[in-house]
Amino acid sequence: MNILVINCGSSSLKYQLIDSETENVLAKGLCERIGINDSFIKQTVPGKDAVVINCELKDHNDAIAQVISALTDKEIGVIADLSGISAVGHRVVHGGEKFHKSVIIDENVMMAIDQCVPLAPLHNPPNIIGIKACQAAMQGVPQVAVFDTAFHQTMPKESYMYAIPYEYYEKYGIRKYGFHGTSHKFVAERCAQILGKPIEETKIITCHIGNGGSISAVKNGKCIDTSMGFTPLDGIVMGTRSGILDPAVVLFLMENEGLNEKEMNNVLNKKSGLAGVSGVSSDMRDVYAAAQEGNEKAQLALDIFAHRVKAYIGEYFAEMNGADAIVFTAGIGENDMAARLASVSGLEALGIVIDPEKNNRRGGEFEISADNSKVKVYVISTNEELAIARETAALV
Ligand code: AMP
Repeated sequence: MNILVINCGSSSLKYQLIDSETENVLAKGLCERIGINDSFIKQTVPGKDAVVINCELKDHNDAIAQVISALTDKEIGVIADLSGISAVGHRVVHGGEKFHKSVIIDENVMMAIDQCVPLAPLHNPPNIIGIKACQAAMQGVPQVAVFDTAFHQTMPKESYMYAIPYEYYEKYGIRKYGFHGTSHKFVAERCAQILGKPIEETKIITCHIGNGGSISAVKNGKCIDTSMGFTPLDGIVMGTRSGILDPAVVLFLMENEGLNEKEMNNVLNKKSGLAGVSGVSSDMRDVYAAAQEGNEKAQLALDIFAHRVKAYIGEYFAEMNGADAIVFTAGIGENDMAARLASVSGLEALGIVIDPEKNNRRGGEFEISADNSKVKVYVISTNEELAIARETAALV
């Protein structure tokens, strides 16, 4: 059956039509500048040139209508009509404590996703709009919600609670939720297959490192800890996000720089991370290029980055009392051999030894640990769309 996977942002919408039996992508595309002028759709069908369609996308309903029209178009489409879509899988960022796994969307689910809006005010509203647009355009086609947070719902309380007055957990749901769960689950499952063991007998540290990034401890197939927290700001150094920080720094800066809540939020989410330290760029490739030209701040950004990844690996190694494998995935994890090497070198005491030759590759799926490494280290490409299509197909 064909599954339409939808990832809806506030002004953009990404889609893939996936044949769930062969797991082939039949078509994928992107609607850009929804609700702004100069909007367009770009659709790619494997083996053919990408097609750009300039069209007015006043809102997400327009975008979904255009996606269906592009998919069913005689010239550029891949299906004859709507009967070529068996179900729709939606990426939903926040499922709070309500959702431990993917679900078929009904009225109660919509209400519950809506109740999670205060926890993800930038992400859940466009996700809801995308679901409603699909429901309206494809009546009778089952819609499934796949949550970024769901995989992390198995964390024990000592992992997810913060040591602040308990009433804030009860009043606002302040706790660690974690994100990128679909990706952590996908690569952990694939890693267990490569290890040739049931996932229930494995300890795996998954490092999803891209522009945003998080690291998870997956014990016996269940997440027991993760580096992102109440929001995706916590954890490792990211493109523009600070990651872990002494909370007193926030209070100090607000007072001494006269920053209000919005401005402080902007500093931590948009002006920090690789971009903030290096002063060069949020993109790892630019930061490397600058470091190689002798920019000391760029080098420092790289050093802090690797130091933090290593610290989380050590923490999760301790929490699980060892690890069978470490997995690197996402833009930096899959492509950046220097960042990988810096993050896992000097860990021989934990039985982690990298083979620099094997590490000298990017993309795909391969081992980078030396033959004598007790802990296996792999690069495994993530595929969140395929993971969403699998979850959706399994449910419908
Ligand atoms: P993602 O958010 O997963 O798309 O990852 C984006 C990040 O991956 C950016 O910081 C890119 O600079 C980084 N990246 C992509 N390709 C490479 C590469 N070949 N070498 C180093 N970093 C890369």
